[in-house]
Amino acid sequence: MRVAFLDLGAAYAELRPEVDAAVARVLAGGRYVLGPEVESFEAEFAAYCGARHCVGVGNGLDALYLILRALDIGPGDEVIVSAHTFIATWLAVSATGATPVPVEPDAHGYNIDAGHVTAAITPRTRAVIAVHLYGEPADIDPIKDVAAQHRLAVIEDAAQAHGARYRGRRTGGRADAAAFSFYPAKNLGALGDGGAVVTNDASLAARVRAAANYGSRSKYVHETLGVNSRLDELQAAVLRVKLTRLDEWNARRTRVAAVYRRGLEGASLVLPEAPDWAEPVWHLFVVCSAARTVLQRHLAEAGIETLIHYPTACHRQQAYAATPLGGADLPRTERLSETVLSLPIGPHITPEQIAHICATVAGLPDRGS
Ligand SMILES: *Cc1c(COP(=O)(O)O)cnc(C)c1O
Repeated sequence: MRVAFLDLGAAYAELRPEVDAAVARVLAGGRYVLGPEVESFEAEFAAYCGARHCVGVGNGLDALYLILRALDIGPGDEVIVSAHTFIATWLAVSATGATPVPVEPDAHGYNIDAGHVTAAITPRTRAVIAVHLYGEPADIDPIKDVAAQHRLAVIEDAAQAHGARYRGRRTGGRADAAAFSFYPAKNLGALGDGGAVVTNDASLAARVRAAANYGSRSKYVHETLGVNSRLDELQAAVLRVKLTRLDEWNARRTRVAAVYRRGLEGASLVLPEAPDWAEPVWHLFVVCSAARTVLQRHLAEAGIETLIHYPTACHRQQAYAATPLGGADLPRTERLSETVLSLPIGPHITPEQIAHICATVAGLPDRGS
């Protein structure tokens, strides 16, 4: 039996008539950038997140970058970031000229340890980016309390957490602004690149919208040195179809996670442990194994594709080697990069495939680790 890490073809197959109709509607309509599909998607996604505003942009990295820009963050500023994350979180900060200041995850999870944020604050700190990693919401309230005391902005990197709930409310409207990615493999994925900024702050939304469109609010009037980063009509039309299925598909992922939890009980793995105030959407199902290399090879031999999110910590990447961050001491983050393994999860994985994965993990020869 073959188990792909994620089957995007199956996602299309399930929605084919609706996706094809949406694409045909855009093609025939003749408007491909800045049109009615993006406008409708923005309203629908803002409502879904329980927030007032949504601005479609080119991708998740740009969403983060445009939020930071709209907050006037730049050279000389520091932004506290999750140490354990996809590098885009850090790159967005670096792109503004500011410096990312990493804070490690807590001892039991993968998300930023809210209790360690205060110690990372300096007179140069301007904002905190909390990543809802793997689909699990970060503990945002204590971070907002600390940020309020120090007049810092709080940004959610929600690129992996569309629909996840923190204390009953969806990610996206919980802080000053949130960045979403619609990269195809995300829980809400387009058929190409896409992203969005979600916020309750009308003025911030307007600044992001202008900056993403050449610094312009009306055609050929350019008030700031903007960029071109827009969600296009085709992607927006497809996302509108997929948004109607997001809750159902997230629920399927949640059921898969529950089956994994039962099926992997007793295996010598650390299973993901969500706090009781969190309703994760299981973008990834990440386990920790001291024998990861052996386990991954064993699964591959049984036809099971796994991935590592992420094999090299951001501060250990060549991109940061020449900066002071290259020498940062982040032991928990480094340990995670050596032990995490992502098992296949998604709305279209079958019960037989999950059973095969659990049986294969259980059949790993015991090597005493
Ligand atoms: C995917 C992702 C991004 C970047 O999104 P893109 O659309 O690929 O630019 C940012 N942060 C996290 C945590 C991500 O997983």
